[in-house]
This record gives sequence, C-alpha cells and structure tokens, in this order.
Amino acid sequence: MPRKIRTFCPHCKKHTQHEVHAVKKRARGELSWGQRHFREVYKGYGGFPRPKPSSEKPTKKVDLRFKCKECGKEHMRGKGFRIKTLEFTE
Ligand SMILES: [Zn+2]
Repeated sequence: MPRKIRTFCPHCKKHTQHEVHAVKKRARGELSWGQRHFREVYKGYGGFPRPKPSSEKPTKKVDLRFKCKECGKEHMRGKGFRIKTLEFTE
C-alpha cells in the first residue's frame, strides 16, 4: 500500500493528493451506545450465555483513512478489505 495516493476528495470535490494511514483498534468505550446496550442485555436472569458470532474469520479488515493534503480532512474509501498484513511503501 503506498503512503501517498491521488484520489477523489469529497470535501474539495476533485482529485487531490492524499496521505494514507491505518486506524488502530482501541478498547471499547464504556459510554458508547452499543456498549451500554450490550451491558444491559448481559445483566439479569438469562443474560448469559449469549450465542457466539456465527463464524470466525481468518483475516481482519483494515481501517484505512485518507487525509486530503488540500483541505486536511480525512475520509474513508469503501469499507476496507480483508488482508493478513498491511505494509506501507513510499
Ligand atoms: Zn480535500
């Protein structure tokens, strides 16, 4: 994956130079709505055990962000793709 890429910027509405970086996974925020809902479902009678997610996948999706050099805003391009390792080249 190249560090710099020329692609469409939805804020400038034209093709500009972009810098690419991957977003790292972080711990779940206890205050986010999804996590509060999850805690609510878990407590009380019958809250545990919960069914496991149906399938384990061998690879994870990468979360790539594209930062526009002209307006400085970041955006995504698609929803990422599945790969084992991600390397940046110049
Ligand atoms: Zn832009």
